[in-house]
Amino acid sequence: MEQVDIAVIGGGPAGLTAALYASRARAKTVVFEKGLPGGQIVTTDHVENYPGFPGGLAGAELGALMTKQAEEFGAVIRTFTEVESIVPADLDFTLRTTDGDEFLARAVIVATGAVPRKLGVPGEAEYTGRGVSWCATCDGAFFRDKVVAVIGGGDAAVEEALFLTKFASKVHIVHRRDELRATKCIQERAFANDKIEPQWSRVVREVRGDGSRVSSVLLESTKGEPDLDLPVDGVFIFVGVHPVSELVRTSVACDDAGYVRTDHDGRTDWPGIFAAGDVTDSELKQVITAAAKGASAAFEALRYVDQKTCGI
Ligand SMILES: Cc1cc2nc3c(=O)[nH]c(=O)nc-3n(C[C@H](O)[C@H](O)[C@H](O)COP(=O)(O)OP(=O)(O)OC[C@H]3O[C@@H](n4cnc5c(N)ncnc54)[C@H](O)[C@@H]3O)c2cc1C
Repeated sequence: MEQVDIAVIGGGPAGLTAALYASRARAKTVVFEKGLPGGQIVTTDHVENYPGFPGGLAGAELGALMTKQAEEFGAVIRTFTEVESIVPADLDFTLRTTDGDEFLARAVIVATGAVPRKLGVPGEAEYTGRGVSWCATCDGAFFRDKVVAVIGGGDAAVEEALFLTKFASKVHIVHRRDELRATKCIQERAFANDKIEPQWSRVVREVRGDGSRVSSVLLESTKGEPDLDLPVDGVFIFVGVHPVSELVRTSVACDDAGYVRTDHDGRTDWPGIFAAGDVTDSELKQVITAAAKGASAAFEALRYVDQKTCGI
């Protein structure tokens, strides 16, 4: 069985930064990534708030650069490798993948991130991939000269709505409140774009279609107005995320929403298991904070491994 010093589970910004720090400190480091590396950020066309890149860059490019930098220091990225269990093994941990392979690690950093939340309304599952999407970068081009609705009012929703104006003839932003949550400068750009039309104080009750494609969304008013059956060809959903913490949910402390509780330095309440990024209960969920927490978790994991090794 392969023995590593530090196993990082998840190849998003948190995991890749943890791997960069750990491998640069000469620890034998492996990142397990169930898909391709980069994490959620690869689904966005443009990241303009990660320092060092004036003018911004594509999310996929940022993910690729982070991967390259971790690999330059010797981190091994095992793509399409999903970890399904972590079991204590004497002084180490045994990680088992869904392919049945096992690895021994002295310390583990859980950086499994988050996945977009669903609306949970009729029609959403039925029309996924047939008009319903969670990725404007992936699917926006299919909606050239079409009308789409973006659901949500935060940064991701409004940024993605702006991106969709490159293709769509009209982009409705459906938000349950009468003002957006997005950062002011993003809002200003949205309101200056005449393809964007807000649908204030409305929530989606149903995604409707003709059996093969989306044809409208049924919107309920949060202010007692009559329902609105809004004709659209596509629905892009950005209503937040939920943590991918199932792997450790019964073995480390998590909050009620399932976010892993960590201390300031990324320690969980299971010695040797650290966590970083969107899977944790930290407030701001962005690339910069995921990267920063990945660095802290790696620093503490390295210290933990050193202490354990010296104690043997
Ligand atoms: C549409 C959109 C736009 C965004 N725009 C911005 C922006 O402009 N600026 C910004 O700063 N942030 C933005 N964000 C937020 C940012 O992408 C996240 O905060 C960041 O990616 C979190 O990084 P992470 O490493 O914690 O988790 P993630 O990026 O979620 O990565 C976790 C990785 O772990 C992998 N994984 C999960 N479970 C396992 C397992 N059991 N085994 C192996 N691998 C596993 C997943 O496949 C995934 O690749 C955006 C997010 C979205 C969805």
